[in-house]
Amino acid sequence: MIQQFDTRNKDIKVWINGELLHRDQAKISVFDSAVQGGDAVWEGVRIYDGRIFCFEKHLNRLMESAKSMDFSNVPSVEEVKNAVFSTLKANGMKDDTHIRLTLTRGEKITSGMNPKLNQFGCTLIVLAEWKSSIFYGKELRLVTSNIRRNSPLCLDSKIHHANLINNILAKIEANYAGADDALMLDLDGFVAETSATNIFMIKNGLVITPFPKACLTGITRSLIIEICKNNNIPIVEQDISVTELYNADEVFTTGTMGELARVNEIDNRKIENKGGVLMQLQSLFRKLTEVEGEKLPF
Ligand code: PMP
Repeated sequence: MIQQFDTRNKDIKVWINGELLHRDQAKISVFDSAVQGGDAVWEGVRIYDGRIFCFEKHLNRLMESAKSMDFSNVPSVEEVKNAVFSTLKANGMKDDTHIRLTLTRGEKITSGMNPKLNQFGCTLIVLAEWKSSIFYGKELRLVTSNIRRNSPLCLDSKIHHANLINNILAKIEANYAGADDALMLDLDGFVAETSATNIFMIKNGLVITPFPKACLTGITRSLIIEICKNNNIPIVEQDISVTELYNADEVFTTGTMGELARVNEIDNRKIENKGGVLMQLQSLFRKLTEVEGEKLPF
């Protein structure tokens, strides 16, 4: 399942450090840290009906990632917000939009890995595109990848960084296997997440998701946990083995870009899809998207 070019995005304007540029002109320097070392942090944010969904949570995670990476001259939350509002306004976007918000360590005075070479402050990129939920109405086929998701021993997955090479290698494996995505394990062989989403299973009415040891603490993941708690749906975080996932009643992924997507096959084992809890969660999540979020000021 590959996203296609959406002609509505043909002439979009992209924000780069205070300038709004046509997508063909929107470029960053070859000296930028994102180019030199994948040295950047990012957020994927979605707009529903004039509201930026969970905007505060995304801004908070962006700032925490930048702090963990020890970025200097980080723009303030207000500056980032204004950049997002200006970009959406310039593109007339109020709905059906996904934003890739990237903050890099910025330009270096010469090529090299040392962050001391970064003397100009961060680069802020706001790429807003018309994009519907990418997995809407689709069911996913996963294959287990040989590439492990990072443990905090190597690189803490709680930093939402742009250095996602192991996830990309896992996705390549999935592509060759003709699957929709790769299931990534942690260093102990327990389920971590997919290459770009968190994962949940349901067994006998109990919703289960891995401890956030080797996965991103996804904002959609935390909303699902909250929704379960508020609606008396039993939920636990625990280690999940691939065998347990094969034998689940239902399996689904969560993420801003694809929302809640049903998994119907893992490593050629069909998931039974019985119980109806996922449908209930999808409907509760949909209701939340109809009210939650920061209203656009234009
Ligand atoms: N895991 C990874 C590796 C991701 O890149 C993302 C998307 N940012 C997610 C999970 C889902 O996170 P969220 O619900 O915050 O979009």
